[in-house]
Amino acid sequence: MIDFTLSHEQRLLEQTVREWGAKEVAPKIRELDNEHRFDQELILGGMKRLGLLGISVPQEYGGAGMDYVCLGLASEELEYVDTSLRVIMSVHAGLNCLSLLTWGTEDQKQRYLVPQAQGDKLATYGLTEPAAGSDARGIQTTAVKRGDRWVLNGEKMWISLGDVADNFLVFAWSDAEKKRRRDPSGISCFIVERSFKGFSSGTLKEKWGILAGNTGFFTLADVEVPGENLLGRDGEGFKIAMFALDQGRYTVAAGATGLIRACRDASTKYALERETFGQKIAEHQLVKEMIARMEADYQISRMLWLKSGWLKNEAQRNTRETSLAKWYATVASELAASNAVQVHGANGYSNEYPVGRFYRNCKGAVIYEGTREIHTLMQADYVLGFRQDKALRCELPGYASQDIAGAKA
Ligand SMILES: Cc1cc2nc3c(=O)[nH]c(=O)nc-3n(C[C@H](O)[C@H](O)[C@H](O)COP(=O)(O)OP(=O)(O)OC[C@H]3O[C@@H](n4cnc5c(N)ncnc54)[C@H](O)[C@@H]3O)c2cc1C
Repeated sequence: MIDFTLSHEQRLLEQTVREWGAKEVAPKIRELDNEHRFDQELILGGMKRLGLLGISVPQEYGGAGMDYVCLGLASEELEYVDTSLRVIMSVHAGLNCLSLLTWGTEDQKQRYLVPQAQGDKLATYGLTEPAAGSDARGIQTTAVKRGDRWVLNGEKMWISLGDVADNFLVFAWSDAEKKRRRDPSGISCFIVERSFKGFSSGTLKEKWGILAGNTGFFTLADVEVPGENLLGRDGEGFKIAMFALDQGRYTVAAGATGLIRACRDASTKYALERETFGQKIAEHQLVKEMIARMEADYQISRMLWLKSGWLKNEAQRNTRETSLAKWYATVASELAASNAVQVHGANGYSNEYPVGRFYRNCKGAVIYEGTREIHTLMQADYVLGFRQDKALRCELPGYASQDIAGAKA
């Protein structure tokens, strides 16, 4: 059966987030962006009240218990207003919370997932380093076992919410010999708290997009992490890092879809107001072409992320589909934002109109969570038969089944 209709709960969620964004955030976003200010009370406070910070976490772990399509809908609505809002969904609700839900022990879920899902603690994901992004095996952070603790040393860079989050998933080499051989089964994943001794962080000041959000770096100097904060098993970190990206990329895809819609709506409004050569620019065929492209890409992108969300609800592996959705939507959002500026002419080149902000914001998503080139290679490799996804020890629980038994020790 193919059913394209949203359920009552999904439509309600979409409407609620849309109204909150339009009423509470949209009137202030230009000022926040201009001032490079992340207004935690307004943004996190609102998202917490709406239950978005634990949206797809089951209620028994403090979440809203909504399905993965709801996670996508919220991401789309949030990025319609500003990319900085959706980024919170990606790193906190997607990359971090869903990894804890899937790979965490019951103790880890109680200690970390519950307060995160309730919006009392903010969480993010630290894989990238100054010298390693796409080439994740190139990370240099190390974890050395000392008694019942791990000692972590290293530096993480370009971390969304890096200077404000409370909890971090940190990826580090726990096997020195495998690090030398670049064997990813030597990487492990750790839950690190900001409060741990030896942790320090800062904000990246020269960033030119997503200015109403926080992007930072953090340093681990002999940080002692309790043994019970190892997520998954020793050596499972690379798999967890890639698993997490399946969830984060999904929110990025849905978010970029919202950005395309925002470009379409702003361009439509302007094209119906602005006149040249005695008629509205909406009457010019070349302007129509740009708006038509936005509409087509919006509809295509939405179908792609909805398919991923459906697969997630059904507990079916979706790495391939999520990669395609992320790749397509982010690249299309870059074209949509560029054309939205074009439709606005010189006014598009000014922060008086939102499309300049859309143009600055869209580029990040073509880089993070797998660059355009990495997704191009992935898609080719699937088609050519060079890449297959193997079953994981822990898989994202489907929404229908609500099978949340989690990792076995
Ligand atoms: C705003 C923002 C927020 C971010 N948030 C986070 C976060 O929360 N957590 C986190 O861990 N990271 C985060 N990142 C980092 C992001 O994931 C990396 O920037 C990304 O993985 C790319 O890595 P890189 O910047 O080192 O580029 P590189 O990997 O050095 O790539 C440089 C260029 O080379 C190309 N390239 C590299 N390898 C290949 C190849 N094999 N074939 C073809 N082309 C290739 C790339 O596509 C790119 O065009 C964030 C980045 C940004 C911009």
